[in-house]
Amino acid sequence: MLVGGHSCASIYRETLSIFDFRPYPFFLTGKAEDTGVVGMEELPVARNIKISNITCDSFKICWDMDPHTKEKITHYFIDLNKKENKNSNKFKHKDVPTKLVAKAVPLPMTVRGHWFLSPRTEYTVAVQTASKQTDGDYAVSEWSDIVEFCTADYSSVHLTQLLQKAEVIAGRMLKFSVFYRNQHEEYFQHCRDVLGGRMMPSVKDNSGSHGSPLSGKLEGIVFSCNTEFNTGQPPQDSPYGRVRFQVPAEVLFPPDTRLYFGDFYCMYTAYHYVILVLAPRGSSGDLYCSERLPELDVTNNRFLTRVCGEDGRVVFQHAQDVILELIYTEPVPLAQGTVSQISGHQLMSLSTINAKKDPSCKTCNISVGR
Ligand SMILES: [Zn+2]
Repeated sequence: MLVGGHSCASIYRETLSIFDFRPYPFFLTGKAEDTGVVGMEELPVARNIKISNITCDSFKICWDMDPHTKEKITHYFIDLNKKENKNSNKFKHKDVPTKLVAKAVPLPMTVRGHWFLSPRTEYTVAVQTASKQTDGDYAVSEWSDIVEFCTADYSSVHLTQLLQKAEVIAGRMLKFSVFYRNQHEEYFQHCRDVLGGRMMPSVKDNSGSHGSPLSGKLEGIVFSCNTEFNTGQPPQDSPYGRVRFQVPAEVLFPPDTRLYFGDFYCMYTAYHYVILVLAPRGSSGDLYCSERLPELDVTNNRFLTRVCGEDGRVVFQHAQDVILELIYTEPVPLAQGTVSQISGHQLMSLSTINAKKDPSCKTCNISVGR
């Protein structure tokens, strides 16, 4: 996300209702900084800062102040910083000023839509109260104590926006009949020797959108179902290993399965990935997803469908133009399918394990909070 000074200003104008955010150094010139002593004596220090109603791109902030000197305050200065992270200084544009000037409004004050706010990110906040002087400079209080908070994951509103973007490029539907999962032989041996012949759910990695409520939270087993358009069969290559577990679609996607849209992303290549969750109704994965993800109609959506024909035969279809990653939320006994070697190659470059989403791709990114 590259935001220049000009586009910032326009964002403020569009979202400005009770705030007047501007980069702080713009104002902090001359007297306020040089003779801040005056302000420190007269302006109350913000104490006991509380952050509440945190979403992926907004929060409420309030604090206590000495009521006797409150009326002098015309503005609040808010110092919002991403918490120190050793790995975060790779890109110069992250070092831009993040101190904000807001007009003094009744507390709690909502901070929303600021470009600096990202999902699932830790911030520190400190506040100064300020009084605009007749010459345009500010008298300021001492800084408050610093408090920390973490923004929330994408809400279902944002995920619905991602879903709509994914629908645009999903393409036509192709029939399929099996789900499959590639791993190394040792993985399956471990399932046989230690896990009672079952593949067990594990916590999802950090691939996909930053702010996805699935990453590091949902437990599941990842399957594929994409087929090659010319054969109608699963491809013989895989980035995940030479051994493939294959199971009839009906086993993992029976009538009482709920289907959720999880994520939409790409990783600097032409391929786009859609993460879906298949959760048996009432399972813990179902409960987790039902509170956080858009649910899809299993018979009518652009990604993965299960339709029962008049003759009683069930037809499964998947979207042709996106790569589906299906997270099944319950254990799967190996006995429900077959395990065999694939004839193709292990294409490591196509692995999405902990894949970083391309934040500049217009196809699969939404503008949170704008
Ligand atoms: Zn993309």
